[in-house]
Amino acid sequence: MIQPLIVKDKMKIGILGLGLIGGSLGFDLKSQGHYVLGVSRRESTCKKAMEIGSVDQAATELSLLSTAEIVFICTPIGLIVPQVEKLISHIPKTTIITDVGSVKTPIVQGISPLWKNFVGGHPMAGNTDVGIDAAQRNLFVDRPYVITPADNTPSHAIKILEEIVRSIGSIIYHCSPEKHDRAVSWISHLPVIVSASLVAACLDESDTEIFQLAQNFASSGFRDTSRVGAGNPELGVMMAQYNRQALINSLHQYRHNLDHFISLIEQENWEMLTEQLKLNQQSRPRFL
Ligand code: NAP
Repeated sequence: MIQPLIVKDKMKIGILGLGLIGGSLGFDLKSQGHYVLGVSRRESTCKKAMEIGSVDQAATELSLLSTAEIVFICTPIGLIVPQVEKLISHIPKTTIITDVGSVKTPIVQGISPLWKNFVGGHPMAGNTDVGIDAAQRNLFVDRPYVITPADNTPSHAIKILEEIVRSIGSIIYHCSPEKHDRAVSWISHLPVIVSASLVAACLDESDTEIFQLAQNFASSGFRDTSRVGAGNPELGVMMAQYNRQALINSLHQYRHNLDHFISLIEQENWEMLTEQLKLNQQSRPRFL
C-alpha cells in the first residue's frame, strides 16, 4: 500500500539516469504529488520519460537538478560516483543525494567525502529489462529497500529518504554498506553467476539434435532458473566488479555445495540427497 508522505507533502525531486529504476521511481514519486525533474544521457530518453509521465521535466544537462531538494542517482553502478562529482557543482549544500546502486561499499566510500547530505540506498526490486521503456508503476511496493547510512550521516537526510521510500510502498531495512554487500552477494549476485553458468552449460551441448530438443522442451523450470543469468550484461559485470570479494566467497561456497551434490549422486546416496532437498524445501520460504 502506498502511504502519504509526512516529512513534506510536495517536494522537488531529481532523478539522474532515467532507466528501469529511475523511470519507475519517477512514476511513483509523481503519483505522490511530487514535482519530478529527470536528467538522462540521451535526449530521446528525456523526451520519452516526459511523454509517458514518469517525470514532469527532463533534460540532458545536470543544471536542471539545481532546484531539487533530493536527487536519486539511478545510473549504472560505475557511473554513480563520477556523476555525483559532476552534479555537486550544480546544487546547494542542503540538497540530499541518494543512490540506488546494487553495491554499496565503494559507492558510500566514494561519495561520503564529497557530500555531507548523502544517504546510500538500494531498492531490492527490478527485472531483467533495461531503459526507460522498461519503467513500470508500483515496482517498489512491498519490496525491501535497504538504507546504508554512515555514522555521520545527518539524521534529517535519513528521515526524508525513509519517508519517501515508505511512501512508495517499500519495506525499509538499515545496515552497513559492507553487510549489505555480503548479504546481496548471496541472494542477488551469486544467483546471477549461477544462472549464467547454467545457460552457458546448456550452450555447451555438442550434439545438435539434443541441443535442438532441449530448446524445444524448455519450459517454466528453465524460465525461472535462467532468468537472472540472461539479463542485462552490464549490470552483471558491474555487480562482479564492484562486489568482487563477497561474490568470490559466495561462489567458492557454492562450488563446495555443488561438489557435495555431485558426490551424493555419484555414490547413489539417495537418503542424504533426500535429507538435503527436504531441508531446502523447508528453508526456502525464510528467504521469500
Ligand atoms: P538501466 O535501465 O540501464 O538505466 C540506467 C540509465 O542511466 C540508462 O537508461 C541511461 O539512460 C542512464 N545513463 C547512462 N549513463 C548516463 C549518464 N552518463 N548520465 C545520465 N544518465 C545516464 O539500468 P537500471 O536497471 O535502471 O539500473 C540503474 C541502477 O539501479 C544501477 O546502479 C543498478 O545497480 C541499480 N539497480 C538495478 C536493479 C535492477 O534489477 N535492474 C535493481 C536495483 C537497483 P539513457 O537512455 O539516457 O542512456
